[in-house]
Amino acid sequence: DIQNQPSNLTDGMHVVVEALLRNGFDTIYGVVGIPVTDLARHAQERGIRYIGFRHEQSAGNAAAITGFLTGKPGICLTVSAPGFLNGLTALATATVNGFPMIQISGSSDRAIIDLQQGDYEGLDQMNVAKTFAKASYRINRPEDIGIGLARAIRAAVSGRPGGVYLDLTTALLGSVIDQAEVEKTLFTVLDPAPKMIPDRQAVDRALDLLSKARKPLVIIGKGAAYAQAEKSIREFLEQTGIPFLPMSMAKGVMPDDHPLSAAAARGLVLKNADVVMLLGARLNWLLAHGKGQKWNPDARFIQLDIEPEEIDSNHPIAAPVVGDIASSMEALLAGLTAYPMTQQNDWLEEIDRVKQVNAAKMEAKLNANPSPMDFFSALKAIRTVLEKHREVYLVNEGANTLDDTRNVINMYSPRKRLDCGTWGVMGVGMGYAIGAAVTSGQQVVCIEGDSAFGFSGMEIETICRYQLPVTIVILNNGGIYNGSHANLGGGTDPSPTTLDAQARYDRLITAFGGTPYYATTPEELEKALEAGIASKKPTLIDCAIDPKAGLESGHIGNLNPKVVGK
Ligand code: ADP
Ligand code: MG
Repeated sequence: DIQNQPSNLTDGMHVVVEALLRNGFDTIYGVVGIPVTDLARHAQERGIRYIGFRHEQSAGNAAAITGFLTGKPGICLTVSAPGFLNGLTALATATVNGFPMIQISGSSDRAIIDLQQGDYEGLDQMNVAKTFAKASYRINRPEDIGIGLARAIRAAVSGRPGGVYLDLTTALLGSVIDQAEVEKTLFTVLDPAPKMIPDRQAVDRALDLLSKARKPLVIIGKGAAYAQAEKSIREFLEQTGIPFLPMSMAKGVMPDDHPLSAAAARGLVLKNADVVMLLGARLNWLLAHGKGQKWNPDARFIQLDIEPEEIDSNHPIAAPVVGDIASSMEALLAGLTAYPMTQQNDWLEEIDRVKQVNAAKMEAKLNANPSPMDFFSALKAIRTVLEKHREVYLVNEGANTLDDTRNVINMYSPRKRLDCGTWGVMGVGMGYAIGAAVTSGQQVVCIEGDSAFGFSGMEIETICRYQLPVTIVILNNGGIYNGSHANLGGGTDPSPTTLDAQARYDRLITAFGGTPYYATTPEELEKALEAGIASKKPTLIDCAIDPKAGLESGHIGNLNPKVVGK
């Protein structure tokens, strides 16, 4: 209820806060300024936690990851024009990833903006956002705040989740309205992400195809992680004995050390599987679009997805199952009695042989122990510590830092690996770490490339200000990809990929009262990481890596356009 008002009148800002409270929102991530400063103050006054950032993009990323972790939209609050645009990158990224969030932004005077007469931070934000978000709305009247928020919530979480933009004009925020009247317009949204039960025939078709497979494969994507369907997925895989491949953010839906994991034989299973069942994973660039050299050209696909338009987007799907993954997995499990599956032992043995060979190759790299450290010797030390702390959230971004960490560090529970996602975007690290720490109250470890860290590094002040249990490890090889290139023009300027390999990122966190560590050997790194986790306090470990270590573009160098003569 709207309290502590001197009269029976209230304003748009208070009404927005009441609408948020009615719908169970307990946290806002943002950067304040004209015209939303008092909105944040009122929210805090009413018991909503407000986390203030140094840049809107990180606030948006925190909201997005909160959406991924909880299935409820995270809320990001921004100021007009530049603040809105800074947040928009995160909103677009969330939309591409299928994470629900709502960016609420103040905006300037519509009358002036529409006639392009030059208002303070004037921009037609609602229309700009349309291109980048799942939906974009503007609320113009205080009596529409309740219904406007409801539209934003439903758009964010129903069907394929995504980012929603909600435009609140200065006039709306300052509008005066009778409390009793506006009370009547506020309500709690009922069942915003309803179950979507798959068609029975579609389920039978999928089971029939799967039961005939000799080399079946299940690919688990972050849509399955989001759907929190891990229990039925595990039951289905263990009952049928079908091997699985986790996409990056789906690592941990099934534990990475599960005997059915084919992660270490990725090349083999893509090239040979005859029936592939996609669980909340798109056949986009991350899976080479389901065609070409990496794939068995005769593979047939089953796809479980909530978004009907996703089916056949890149490759014909022999058995689409449109529904929410939790409901679809339940239906598939129930159907197993009618479609019994035989475990394909020859296939599993073939996979195991390749897994063993590849695992041995990986161990050799991890044990090489060069001086200075490379990515693998550093990751071996990190692995030793994280194996003892399987409960931590792992945020991971960079090029080689991303690819090598994904391959070396096992995940054992779902929604604990938070990374660059569908766009392979840099700069999500600190926002995701803050969002995960605030949402869960648990320890977060960030494994960051030195370049990736730079995109959101100032948020270590936010981490320290809120005393969050975040330990940041920077694998510092002094460059984008690596730090060993020369200026082709021969001048004294550093090359385009060069950063400062001598930079001591650990010293940054001392400015804000966090604990610094500097590691030049695996032993030092192991000790520092153990101490950082034990402290449950903001910690930053600068880990000196050989500037020559690291491939151009990590594992996706093939995506660079070819250079003639190179
Ligand atoms: P990955 O990158 O891990 O392969 P993608 O983001 O490409 O995963 O794919 C996730 C897919 O999951 C999207 O197509 C999305 O529509 C779908 N999805 C998201 N939530 C659900 C859900 N609750 N039920 C079913 N499918 C979902
Ligand atoms: Mg680097």
